[in-house]
Amino acid sequence: MSAPSELLELFRCGSCQVSYLPTDGPCPHCGATARERHTVPALGTVLAATELLSPATGWPSPHRLALVELPGSVRLLAIVEGELPSVGAVVSVRRDGAIYRAGSEPAAAGIERGEGESPRVGATDPSFEPPR
Ligand SMILES: [Zn+2]
Repeated sequence: MSAPSELLELFRCGSCQVSYLPTDGPCPHCGATARERHTVPALGTVLAATELLSPATGWPSPHRLALVELPGSVRLLAIVEGELPSVGAVVSVRRDGAIYRAGSEPAAAGIERGEGESPRVGATDPSFEPPR
């Protein structure tokens, strides 16, 4: 596996030094508002993953979600693109507006919601095929 080229932006609290996901609010750990931005490699470890076969209206089925831990012990819930990852697997993570998406391969970054029709913006390997 090659080194990831993607980075994710995090905040680091200026008071307690904890890293957290970018937010308009204060530090979720101590409430301080002082913070600085930093980036980490956009790769995380899957702590848990699940598959919803009857998701809420508007979401594709199956709808796969993973709890992913980034460097610095920052955890987030991500929509899984492709196969459901196993616990302990390393996945690529990218921010897509207000949500995060996880892919089984770094090259999968850039797949839009709604499988099939959307172009793969940002894919680095045009021959990449997600595993079945
Ligand atoms: Zn803090």
